[in-house]
Amino acid sequence: MYTWFTDLYASLLSRYLARKLHHGLLFSGAKGIGKFSLAEQLSHTLLCKQPTVDGPCGHCQSCHLRAAGNHPDYHILESEKQLGVDKIREGIAKLSGTAQMGGNKVLLIPKADTMTEAAANALLKTLEEPTANTYLVLITDSINKLMPTVLSRCEKHVLPLPSIQQSLNYLHEKGVKEADEALLGAYGNAPLRLEEALEGGDEFNYRVFSDGMQALLVSDPKMQPQNLSSKWQDDAIQVALWCQLQAQQNYIQHQSPRYYAHYSACVEAVRTLQHPGVNKSMVLFGLLKTFQR
Ligand SMILES: [Zn+2]
Repeated sequence: MYTWFTDLYASLLSRYLARKLHHGLLFSGAKGIGKFSLAEQLSHTLLCKQPTVDGPCGHCQSCHLRAAGNHPDYHILESEKQLGVDKIREGIAKLSGTAQMGGNKVLLIPKADTMTEAAANALLKTLEEPTANTYLVLITDSINKLMPTVLSRCEKHVLPLPSIQQSLNYLHEKGVKEADEALLGAYGNAPLRLEEALEGGDEFNYRVFSDGMQALLVSDPKMQPQNLSSKWQDDAIQVALWCQLQAQQNYIQHQSPRYYAHYSACVEAVRTLQHPGVNKSMVLFGLLKTFQR
């Protein structure tokens, strides 16, 4: 679990030990802050036979089974795209009856917003009247995609972004040495998104973009709007958003109408790029041309 969740985890844990933890929890927050790690750590504690204020003991049979990936009362509901009603029913069925290990049963739904309407409806009853010793932990990046009926039955925790310093400390410890405030900002201040982009072998990341833009502005003949727009067209929306971020930072620093014009062009480009069938390369070309002015 990530250090920025330490306080929240401690408070959830102490409520659990005091038998005051709600059975249906929802963790929402930006993508790339590690929400799953918090849910996982909490689940491990819920399954442990002798949890303490430090969390799961790590020695009991439950902890061993869980560590081996074989705990019979621990279920994670994942699905490629949409989480359908069958999958939810399957999950609920596993929660009926007593826990095989005699402790708690935990059902984790990492992408709760991918539940279809029927799936969400199927989950309502369990959220309302769960079987004994049952906990459901839902996670989402997009809380507004969840049905109000699901939301109202969960105890909601909005997980904030870690501070810049916490994120940079984490990234530097992980060996992502080039991480700095600007780079982090390009990934919405979400440290795991930046880590993935730089370390996950993404061919196109902010560094590539930033180098390309610099070359464009000094009129490097190999890095002209024509080349860049065709090279970057698959990531067109991301490029436009990064251009927008640069324009915004420039405008804040220099207050020049030139940068305001860049910013407006970006907003327009992002909007245009949302349309299916749009010629992305052409839109980017126009945008990058604006940046040369
Ligand atoms: Zn244990």
